[in-house]
Amino acid sequence: MLDTAIEYLRSVGPQRGEALKRELGIYTWGDLLMHFPFRYLDRTRFHSIRDIQREGEAYQLKGILRRLETVGAGRAKRLVGTLRDETGTLELVWFQGIAWLERSLVVGKPYVVYGRVSLFNGRFSIAHPEMEELTSDNAQLARTFDPIYPSTDKLSQKGLDARGLRKLMRLLLDQLTPAELPETLPDSLLSAYRLMPRWEALQKIHFPENQQELDAARRRLKFEELFFLQLRLLQIRRRRKTSSQGFIFEKVGDCFHRFYREKLPFELTQAQKRVVREIRADLRAGFQMNRLVQGDVGSGKTVIALLAMLIAVDNGFQTCLMAPTEILAQQHYTGLTELVGDLGVRIGFLSGTVKGKARKATLGALASGDMHIVVGTHALIEDTVQFHRLGLAVIDEQHRFGVEQRAALWKKGAGLPPHVLVMTATPIPRTLAMTLYGDLDTSIIDELPPGRKPINTLHFTEQHRLRVQGFMREQIAQGRQVYVVYPMIEETEKTDMLNLMAGYEALRRDFPPPQYQISIVHGKMKPADKDFEMRRFARGETHIMVATTVIEVGVNVPNATVMVIENAERFGLSQLHQLRGRVGRGAEQSYCLLMTSQKLSADARERIQTLVRTNNGFEIADADLRLRGPGNIEGTQQSGMIRLLIADLAKDGQILSAARDIAKRILEADPELMAPEHYRLREHLAAIGKEARLWSRIS
Ligand code: ADP
Ligand code: MG
Repeated sequence: MLDTAIEYLRSVGPQRGEALKRELGIYTWGDLLMHFPFRYLDRTRFHSIRDIQREGEAYQLKGILRRLETVGAGRAKRLVGTLRDETGTLELVWFQGIAWLERSLVVGKPYVVYGRVSLFNGRFSIAHPEMEELTSDNAQLARTFDPIYPSTDKLSQKGLDARGLRKLMRLLLDQLTPAELPETLPDSLLSAYRLMPRWEALQKIHFPENQQELDAARRRLKFEELFFLQLRLLQIRRRRKTSSQGFIFEKVGDCFHRFYREKLPFELTQAQKRVVREIRADLRAGFQMNRLVQGDVGSGKTVIALLAMLIAVDNGFQTCLMAPTEILAQQHYTGLTELVGDLGVRIGFLSGTVKGKARKATLGALASGDMHIVVGTHALIEDTVQFHRLGLAVIDEQHRFGVEQRAALWKKGAGLPPHVLVMTATPIPRTLAMTLYGDLDTSIIDELPPGRKPINTLHFTEQHRLRVQGFMREQIAQGRQVYVVYPMIEETEKTDMLNLMAGYEALRRDFPPPQYQISIVHGKMKPADKDFEMRRFARGETHIMVATTVIEVGVNVPNATVMVIENAERFGLSQLHQLRGRVGRGAEQSYCLLMTSQKLSADARERIQTLVRTNNGFEIADADLRLRGPGNIEGTQQSGMIRLLIADLAKDGQILSAARDIAKRILEADPELMAPEHYRLREHLAAIGKEARLWSRIS
């Protein structure tokens, strides 16, 4: 019954059905059932306007719409109405959808109004209230919470506004029987965790009688969603380990040992040693490695990648290291070549800019097996790149790579898929990592190399400009170097480009040649020019590097101690953290100066304060998740993996952890869920497995 096409639900029909499909992606009865309310209207009482006391509280009111007019213009344009009841008047305001509202609201008619009250200039008002014409239907107080469903203008025009959808949902639920919504969790789990039965939860999520019922229904459905997600991810991981064969790198040989003894310029940190051991164990276990290494900026991931690659070389395999930008790839290439020295390991470079003879030579050496390690950009996954025997692929800063690109790498293995090592400095909140990378094994480098001083982060506004410049001069006089970064959200954005150039010109006036040398790097430059400027800065030939976020990832100039970020309020938290990580790489005390305008939005202020307060990437990631919501965290959009209906990764961390623990325990005891008490789990997993299959293969 749940698979029945939506148009066959009573009162829907072809036209509304079409609109439901197009506007909300609701194709079947089942889809409609899973269209959960986004909030509930507490219809258990009406308030008088006089009762309104507290800002932030939601009130349901009954009154006549007395006035409706647009005021202001441009971005300040808004629609203002006045609601009156026997006790007073209240202002209603809309900033969006004005044209539509003007057409549909009628002055002089009675309405039921619901919304959160705000206090502005000493007067209460409601912005974007829920408006329903007063009818005999809704004049009576309902016993229930009324669900409010997400709808659209187009659907509203077809009578499917929040209220129309509510009626439709009632119709649907009246047709369904418990047999159509079978329980998916074992009884033992329901009772152990006091979860509402599924049939009941699906009723109550739409039509709860009170807050407690609603909470219980939500908790149950959130648990179910997260639990099956974890069950699936853990099962994929388990199967990979038991059945997906991988190359066995038996020995740790000459390359590794000689490098470790003769070339490695420092002692590895305990955390680095641990991660190398974890990788080592994977590489000889016989299954394909899929490991994510998370480590804050500067925690020393490169050398870990190199050690893993040397093990591959010791075992007669080739490896590649893929980086998201040309600059970063170049830097890895130079860095690795230097580190490896005269070990006899042949390292090559490949990117879109490598052309003609050089390209041919590299491709030839890869195909013949002459080249052991190739460092490069996306160019590495092109079809023309053939390996003789690719055994390990390292992906640096993987959030820039989509799932498809990972898949393309897979195909380049010699018979078996190569081992995959993914490195990221973008700390991912634990809850997100469990979901996004739930099928990967993760290693965490939670320790910085010794002697690093925490970066000192300070917040300044334009009026402190002279102090900031004075500080830059001081640092340069001590032989240090400075980054000045400008936002370039869209590389095509004209004003951003003008800002950058204006900033550059101003710096040239304040830091004139020949005493001061300034480099500039931005996305519009030719790669060769960018590279030239980066190198000049890296060699210490220029004092200041003016740049856009192209330097965000991975660039390593230990002598740079000051990072000035202009318009810092325009950057996201994790991006700011990444930028900050460009300094603090040497033994000197480093500084990050966040320049913003005087006035900041609440969110921007919190971002800046978070950064000033802490250097801890994981703490920052959690704040980022809280501020922006999971859909906006880098890496989650293109992956398309997180499409949760009801659970919220930013808020439901506890439910998620519990769900994961329980899933783990169950799978340990019964990997294929064959036990009779796991029958429901197996059935439901199979039912939801269709869509999951697509990406499980890939990751
Ligand atoms: P990230 O994790 O951000 O990629 P890198 O691998 O670029 O960090 O390392 C940052 C810097 O720290 C490099 O200059 C590297 O040589 C140095 N480094 C890495 N590990 C250690 C260590 N154990 N002791 C001292 N310096 C280290
Ligand atoms: Mg790095």
